[in-house]
Amino acid sequence: MMMEELSCRIVYCILKHITISLSNYFQLKNTQGLSLKASNFLYLKPTSLDEALSFLVSNEEPRIIAGGQSLVAAMNMKLAQPETIIDITELHELKKFEIDKKSVNIGALVTHSEIEFYKSSSKLVSFLSSVAKNIAHIPIRFKGTFCGAVANSDPASEWCSCLLALDGMAEVIGQNREKRFIESENFFVAPYLSDIQYDEILTSIKFPEIDEHTKLGFNEYSRRAGDYAIAMCVSKINLMEDKVVDGNIVIGAASEVPTKITDALLFLKGKELNENTCLKAANIAADRIKILDDIESSEEYKRDIVKAVTFRSLIACK
Ligand SMILES: Cc1cc2nc3c(=O)[nH]c(=O)nc-3n(C[C@H](O)[C@H](O)[C@H](O)COP(=O)(O)OP(=O)(O)OC[C@H]3O[C@@H](n4cnc5c(N)ncnc54)[C@H](O)[C@@H]3O)c2cc1C
Repeated sequence: MMMEELSCRIVYCILKHITISLSNYFQLKNTQGLSLKASNFLYLKPTSLDEALSFLVSNEEPRIIAGGQSLVAAMNMKLAQPETIIDITELHELKKFEIDKKSVNIGALVTHSEIEFYKSSSKLVSFLSSVAKNIAHIPIRFKGTFCGAVANSDPASEWCSCLLALDGMAEVIGQNREKRFIESENFFVAPYLSDIQYDEILTSIKFPEIDEHTKLGFNEYSRRAGDYAIAMCVSKINLMEDKVVDGNIVIGAASEVPTKITDALLFLKGKELNENTCLKAANIAADRIKILDDIESSEEYKRDIVKAVTFRSLIACK
């Protein structure tokens, strides 16, 4: 295993535990006087994409900041200690949210709440809008961005599972100022590690619009409203004369990266979606998923949750 992947996995376990125990941490801080402040850093606010890209290679240990809803928490807990912060919020070209009959293109600065409240006849946007409600709490959704969540590559991010299930394509720009496209299948490397390179910026995510034969389903389970999910399932099912012909069934949060359960889809092919077939597919998903170790929940419990969310996500596609 590469050192980078290994350290990402370690950071993931620590960050997940700390996020879940945040309230305990604040109590500790109050009683023991621990500091919840970020280390010093240089703050830069470029006014063009070109300038932002130059800053990425001309400064010590730079990190892009978009909504800051993940990065600032990580900095305050000293899990991330960048020397330089590059704030991209002035880059207006990253605010685009383009919808046409064939595709939906979400620029790097589009927030969770813009998606949540966007009124559109697009079936894909309506679906994303219903999923957005599951992300954190309202104030976080107003600041956090779709692309920031994808770049952050937390396996429990709803948008990461959507990227994979809905056949999204990431557009990044690098030092040669040329666009590079990353297919969702190749995007996630390890928890908190994507294929975006250190000197690149994620500029947008594009999804194909769904047609009248395609149904989408989402379900997740978390202990409390606003918590990160223990498991989630995003389903994209193509039907022909009520029989499954193709699609994706993606499990998020339960494993290291969002994962397609191809065996569950293979089982469904040629069959109708009903309680019986959806339950069997959900059993396959629970059996095949490689569970990520977690001090909060046992493997057996997580498999049960995977089964439940997969069943509900598939039934929603009926
Ligand atoms: C209490 C709490 C609960 C939360 N619950 C959930 C949840 O249930 N589900 C969920 O998905 N998220 C959750 N989040 C995270 C939230 O959704 C964040 O908004 C999101 O993960 C990151 O978006 P951001 O714009 O704030 O990114 P930032 O915090 O600014 O950045 C996150 C990371 O992505 C990188 N980055 C950002 N934009 C780009 C870009 N354009 N190009 C390259 N790199 C980039 C940054 O360098 C950083 O490493 C929660 C956060 C909090 C504080």
